[in-house]
Amino acid sequence: MDGLRACVHCGSCLPQCTTYRVLGEEMDSPRGRVYLMRAAAEGRAELTPRLARHLDLCLGCRACETACPSGVPFGQLLEATRAQLDRKRVRAPESAHGTLDWALSIFPHPDRLRALLRPLRWYQASGLRTLVRASRVLAPFKRLQAMEALLPRVPSGVASLPEVTAARGRRRGRAALLTGCVQRLFFPEINLATARLLAAAGWEVVAPRAQGCCGALHLHAGRLGEFRAMARELMAALGHDVDVVVTNAAGCGSALKEYGHWLGDESASRFAGLVRDVSELLVEAELPLGELRETVTYHDACHLAHGQRVRVQPRELLRRIPGLTLVELADSDLCCGSAGVYNLLEPEMAAELGRRKIEKIRETGARIVATGNPGCMMQIAQQAREAGLALEVKHPVTLLSGALREP
Ligand code: SF4
Ligand code: SF4
Repeated sequence: MDGLRACVHCGSCLPQCTTYRVLGEEMDSPRGRVYLMRAAAEGRAELTPRLARHLDLCLGCRACETACPSGVPFGQLLEATRAQLDRKRVRAPESAHGTLDWALSIFPHPDRLRALLRPLRWYQASGLRTLVRASRVLAPFKRLQAMEALLPRVPSGVASLPEVTAARGRRRGRAALLTGCVQRLFFPEINLATARLLAAAGWEVVAPRAQGCCGALHLHAGRLGEFRAMARELMAALGHDVDVVVTNAAGCGSALKEYGHWLGDESASRFAGLVRDVSELLVEAELPLGELRETVTYHDACHLAHGQRVRVQPRELLRRIPGLTLVELADSDLCCGSAGVYNLLEPEMAAELGRRKIEKIRETGARIVATGNPGCMMQIAQQAREAGLALEVKHPVTLLSGALREP
């Protein structure tokens, strides 16, 4: 409630708000949403499907937090209000609750996701995917079409990540690596690159196979009971006998760093205090990097820039690669439309934001865009394909690992 009262209605957040920039509606701005949430919290308004719709349209990107001079903790307020809406089963009829339930039953469960890999690989390799896209058979089913379009190439033949990677050179300590759900299955090379770089920086890397999900998607949807259960399991899997807990996925890292707030006990606060984005650790090391003659631009994932205030470190690391030219991207920290599973739930708004992002990337002239979140990678890659822009989307650690010269 104090967070809601902190809003002084100054409007500084409006020009930075992703949905306000597209819709121009006060109730789809941070100030309007805070007004609605406060009115509901003070009993002056009901939790109605209309109110729920304004909150469903919010990406949870937290650009408003960065802009707010009063320190309104918008992300936490949004998640708490979504939890109330969920408890009371208040739902906007226009919102995609079935898709959300489905996404939450699959994505945060690596075993269920893994079971899909084989049929998906066949779907892509057999030519069926080409046929489906060319025939536009999914066009009447907007959300299914969005899901199909976002699917990255299913990897095959990637070496598996060892549970322990030994440190090299001067030892800094022991790092537990969160391997992520989508990350470990669809982008395994990012986890391999992360472990390789951390080891070169002097960290012993432990990546227990038994680890589950951080619960970020459930948190953003206001499913706090399931989120807390997932968080406790993950802390038990990762939090013992390590100096740091490392993530390479912005959305996961942001959720982990807030475990103390949401779980409300000392062990969760202690765990949250250990969490670092991979760029925060690597920037402290001197890595032997060889030349990479590329022009690269950088997109700030919302939950890294706004959620964790990590902006400088990934840029600094990219600039250290000899031969690499880093070109700044206009509105780099404006959401690309991914926002967890938002692009499956609100495909039209997500596509509009994706198109805007691609136009800004096109203006840089860069052939590669780097970004530290798997959701952003999929969204930007898909939008670039749609726009006919030849663009590679890479995680910064993939570029760094490619440039790393082992002694
Ligand atoms: S989280 Fe993003 S979309 Fe939602 S109100 Fe804040 S800036 Fe706007
Ligand atoms: S910037 Fe902060 S204080 Fe000002 S209107 Fe937005 S949420 Fe309220």
